[in-house]
Amino acid sequence: MATIDFSSINKAAAKSFKQQRDVIKRLGKGDTLLCDSCKKPLTLSVSSHGEPGVKCQKGCTNIELML
Ligand SMILES: [Zn+2]
Repeated sequence: MATIDFSSINKAAAKSFKQQRDVIKRLGKGDTLLCDSCKKPLTLSVSSHGEPGVKCQKGCTNIELML
């Protein structure tokens, strides 16, 4: 079960968190998604903590999720 602390983030961030989860889900299914900034493909990665993350080649997109 996921426990998320929303106390320090606003509604926009919560919405973007949902979008980020969707991005990871789509990458996991093999979809190709592009970075909003550099238009390079996003890649799925796993952080040192074993949490899923999404990065682009240039690093302007660097999402780490704590599920
Ligand atoms: Zn980028």
